[in-house]
Amino acid sequence: MASKYVYFFGGGKADGKAEMKNLLGGKGANIAEMTNLGIPVPPGFTITTEVCTYFYEHGRQYPPELEGQVEEALRKLEEMMGRKFGDVEKPLLVSVRSGAASSMPGMMDTVLNLGLNDRTVEGLAKETQDERFAYDCYRRFVAMYGDVVLGLKPVEKDDVDPFDELIEKMREKRGVEFDNQLSVADLKELVQQYKNLIREKLSTEFPQDPMAQLWGSIGAVFGSWNNPRAIAYRELNDIPADMGTAVNVQCMVFGNMGDDSGTGVGFTRNPATGENVFYGEYLINAQGEDVVAGIRTPQPINKIQKSDPNTLSLEETMPEIYQELDEIRRKLDRHYRDMQDIEFTIQKGKLWMLQTRSGKRTGFASFKIAVDMVREGILSKEEALMRVEPDQLNQLLRPIFDPRAKQEALKSGSFLAKGLNAGPGAATGRIVFNAPDATEWVKRGERVILVRLETSPEDIRGMHASQGILTARGGMTSHAALVGRQMGKVCVVGCNDLEISYRDRLMRVNGRVVKEGDWISIDGTTGEVFAGEIPTEPSEVLRVLLDKTLGPEDSQVYQDYMALLSWADECRRLGIWTNADQPNQAETAIAFGAEGIGLTRTEHMFFEGDRIDAVREMILAADLEGREKALAKLLPMQKEDFKGIFRVMNGRPVTIRTLDPPLHEFLPHGRQELQKLATQMGVSVDRVEAKMQGLHEANPMLGHRGCRLGIVYPEITSMQARAIMEAACEVTQEGIPVHPEIMIPLVGHVAELKNQRKVVEQAAREAMDHYGVTVDYRVGTMIEVPRGAVTADEIAREADFFSFGTNDLTQTVYGISRDDAGKFLPAYIEMRIWEHDPFDRLDQVGVGTLMEIGVKKGRATKPNLKIGICGEHGGEPSSVEFCHRIGLDYVSCSPYRVPIARLAAARAAIREKQAKG
Ligand code: PEP
Ligand code: MG
Repeated sequence: MASKYVYFFGGGKADGKAEMKNLLGGKGANIAEMTNLGIPVPPGFTITTEVCTYFYEHGRQYPPELEGQVEEALRKLEEMMGRKFGDVEKPLLVSVRSGAASSMPGMMDTVLNLGLNDRTVEGLAKETQDERFAYDCYRRFVAMYGDVVLGLKPVEKDDVDPFDELIEKMREKRGVEFDNQLSVADLKELVQQYKNLIREKLSTEFPQDPMAQLWGSIGAVFGSWNNPRAIAYRELNDIPADMGTAVNVQCMVFGNMGDDSGTGVGFTRNPATGENVFYGEYLINAQGEDVVAGIRTPQPINKIQKSDPNTLSLEETMPEIYQELDEIRRKLDRHYRDMQDIEFTIQKGKLWMLQTRSGKRTGFASFKIAVDMVREGILSKEEALMRVEPDQLNQLLRPIFDPRAKQEALKSGSFLAKGLNAGPGAATGRIVFNAPDATEWVKRGERVILVRLETSPEDIRGMHASQGILTARGGMTSHAALVGRQMGKVCVVGCNDLEISYRDRLMRVNGRVVKEGDWISIDGTTGEVFAGEIPTEPSEVLRVLLDKTLGPEDSQVYQDYMALLSWADECRRLGIWTNADQPNQAETAIAFGAEGIGLTRTEHMFFEGDRIDAVREMILAADLEGREKALAKLLPMQKEDFKGIFRVMNGRPVTIRTLDPPLHEFLPHGRQELQKLATQMGVSVDRVEAKMQGLHEANPMLGHRGCRLGIVYPEITSMQARAIMEAACEVTQEGIPVHPEIMIPLVGHVAELKNQRKVVEQAAREAMDHYGVTVDYRVGTMIEVPRGAVTADEIAREADFFSFGTNDLTQTVYGISRDDAGKFLPAYIEMRIWEHDPFDRLDQVGVGTLMEIGVKKGRATKPNLKIGICGEHGGEPSSVEFCHRIGLDYVSCSPYRVPIARLAAARAAIREKQAKG
């Protein structure tokens, strides 16, 4: 049987369904689903993603069967509509749209009103008795075709669209503000001007044959799969490049047929807050792209959304249509069991649905919708957990403006304007007016806010680099709002008071001039824009959890956060620990749900106050006696630190690592410090300098560090073990339970651990004897060099636990330096030599394999060996999932990533359960 490349939908029946996303793309699959649900959808057909794959594998050729299948579908469409493609009397007009399996909003191109030419436009005019409408469609089509299919677009970053330039000139010439105030003659002249522009610039004619238009557009959609902005979008969103897009050819419906027509977009719930209310925007007498492109600022869909009493909502202007739409939104929300992003058109009082898909939302909304849907009985707890991406938690923890500073800013007159609150959070930065500048400035180390009239898909890299995005036009569903929200950016759109001049690199706002490089602050929660830099403060969740300046009952955000994370805790198997060096960090981590400390880097305490002097004295001492003298000064300080941490942790395990970094990191810099130190130690500057030179290493990361220090200078390990154990004894005597886990770094050979264990055990025994207290302590090791992993069975003989130090393990497995990788890593990522920075996301194939070996061998010796991870990967969602899969007992991460790790761990457990069926 020949392959089926074309799937028809219409008349209440469709060949496809929602599950066929990979074949029909998201848009095509959902249109089919809506058709089958009995929702009014204009009929049409979808050309499958397989054709896209074929197209690229065969030098941009189509499979031979395609032409016949398209023609057949077109005939069926003509029959159903009682119209004919290219017919002068009753022309069939279609739209051609892309639609990949993963939604790529605004990334791919769309052609509307296809089928119009110099003859059919007359037919359309006669049939609708509306010449203005017909020519408005025609001029839009010629411009879109010129742009999307023929590639006539702005070239330089400050350029305006060449077709826009012509219509703008026409508006100026006629002295009108809006396109719909242009006359029929003006529109006819514009069509001519557009056609001339195409001829002049491209030496080609705008095609009059509708079939040529159709195949040109289909080719352009497939071609757009590999345009730079689509590639950039896929890169940023981890969408594989080989999936391809489908093409949807659909009968046109018109929202620009007069005041009983319109078009709009909506969300079945509020995409910013997640509230279960219909949320959307519409424009009377306009065609689809007008809403999203932000050319006119649309009106709210219902009364509750109105902030300006002078606007009219759809609920007021077309109450029956609104009712029908509201029913459809409820139906879709329930049917898909997820918040939907919908597009609709009203043609002469009849409602048509054009699209539904899972809606992009803020982290706040994601939480609220997931939690609400459990409460509404739509989702199970496990399903809700799978709906929230762990990284979205960042948004809930994100700063807001310090309210007092904001009040002052308001009083002092730095308030500039108010736009729509599209992406919550607070951001400050310096103004740039185009995306390439945003990227460049950020590379230089600046914080920027990208300010545009409106954004377009070309801008996404710049948007990504910016702290926040501010636009003068467009609504809550404009490109800036959608993409900004998805990126988790602070975003204010549709700020009409901004008069932006790209050429002069400035904007005028209510009589004030703000220039490129000036500081501004934008509040994406309220839509306010301020001149200058306003300090920020912690989010509601942090205020409840940490600052205690807000009661849990007063914060819905906090309540949703708690609900979801408590469900996560019910599902997860991994323990979630934290990396903390100080009592206050430990406190923060506990508030976020940490169950233990997986890493205390003792050396981080060495820089506090004047401790560094004693550390330096120890390093530079000439002999054991000198070192012991210095260590004796350090001991009470370390002991106090540990006591503080033990008290806060209140019986939870606390893993403390013995000294790790190369000693030279602690040495004095510059003449003055050197002098001071020499005086303190009572030796000459020359002697100190000579000692320092002796410590110099060509490659310190692979030098005298980790357990090698404690082996050569056992008195250091001994002092640290004593400090830990004395602290543990004293805190035990206070009645607080203590579980110290002493961890030896950089072990690659069992003999290293054996040596250090002996030193630790002796110090521990002495401390416990001295206090007459028994402390339940353990001695374990980090696995962070390859030899440690491959000889883990031997090492496990001496270890009570393992903790993977994946920072060093990544460094040593790859043979790249943590300090110097920055020189080539960005190029590697850009060139896709590596998909991700391996210091950020665990390299599961390479480093991960060694971890698996380590786990297997370690447990071959000790089946119940406790194993964790304390490298930075312990708080990165995909790495956490990996740690779950290979059977670690816990992950340890920085305090602010604890909630993210909790959620990621729950998702890993749920995914495993699902895989087992
Ligand atoms: C590691 O190497 O992963 C680790 C946690 O130790 P550090 O980063 O201190 O070297
Ligand atoms: Mg390390």
